[in-house]
Amino acid sequence: MRVQNLVIIGSGPAGYTAAIYAGRAQLKPLVFEGFNAGGVPGGQLMTTTEVENFPGFPDGITGPQLMKQMRQQALRWGANLITDDVIKVDFRQRPFIITANEKEVQAFGVIICTGATAKRLHILGEDEFWNNGISACAICDGASPLFRHVEVAVVGGGDTAAEEALYLTKYASQVHLLVRSDQLRASKTMQNRLFAHPQIKIHWHSIPISAHGNEILQGLCLKNTLTGDISQLSVNGLFYAIGHIPNTELFKGQITLDAQGYIITEGKSTTTNISGVWAAGDVQDHHYRQAVTAAGSGCMAALEAERWLSNYGSLSILSVV
Ligand code: NDP
Repeated sequence: MRVQNLVIIGSGPAGYTAAIYAGRAQLKPLVFEGFNAGGVPGGQLMTTTEVENFPGFPDGITGPQLMKQMRQQALRWGANLITDDVIKVDFRQRPFIITANEKEVQAFGVIICTGATAKRLHILGEDEFWNNGISACAICDGASPLFRHVEVAVVGGGDTAAEEALYLTKYASQVHLLVRSDQLRASKTMQNRLFAHPQIKIHWHSIPISAHGNEILQGLCLKNTLTGDISQLSVNGLFYAIGHIPNTELFKGQITLDAQGYIITEGKSTTTNISGVWAAGDVQDHHYRQAVTAAGSGCMAALEAERWLSNYGSLSILSVV
């Protein structure tokens, strides 16, 4: 079996940026873009509308268009893209073995860019209003005209929910924070900011159970988690901030993960506990979670891989492909 220099698993901004850099370094990277696993190929931006904070696009760009352009750039630099889900990896032997549904390859190096999936509640009406009022990222979508000068709701009580609620006050007239218990998990500082903000109203013991409207979201049905009482809330936006799940199931037992399941990387690098395996993007970052930071860490991973591959076994490795 032909041994690949570098396999990249995942195709969000981290994966494609790693592919562009590795391609330019003439490593001929093989990218498993994914198919069903972790959503659609291209990652979380494929389900976003306008991206207005990615540098270089002063008028904004849609998430799918941005990913299409990154993909084209990766292809231009010689990346081999395969639209298939990786179902198994074996990092215990070298070369590593990466098994997808329809292909198995060996590789000297692997960059993991499988991202994270925002948790959803799957309430009634969610699919209908997804991107038409319902979103899982206020920082990505909050500035859309859909949410300007209207009332919106955020579900969750952690730091993400607090940050998103505060962010949304720039655009929305009122932000309703729906918290399922009687306490916030967010840091004290964030809690104080929430309590002090005149545009934020906290609804304790509240969860949304359905969304309704006419083409765009117009309201939610709320359930009181203590009493079971049902009430209505007129809002044009609903933002889920109930956490993310890192897409690391594949790597459990081989790569060191933190308590939340994110890959642990060393210091400022993208190095994992296994030499020759790097991790970039949201799969190892639950702090920033932005397209541009994911792209930046994809670049770092490719540079680290290039250096490692040229030191490890040096030319004999690179001449295999
Ligand atoms: P968290 O897990 O901290 O919080 C999730 C919140 O969502 C909790 O309030 C939880 O409620 C609620 N929730 C979970 N499931 C449901 C559900 N089914 N229905 C209703 N509510 C639900 O996730 P975050 O994304 O907020 O934060 C993740 C990590 O990232 C944390 O460590 C956080 O501190 C960190 N972070 C740091 C930031 C910063 O420093 N600036 C910014 C953002 C995140 P309950 O409390 O009842 O379980």
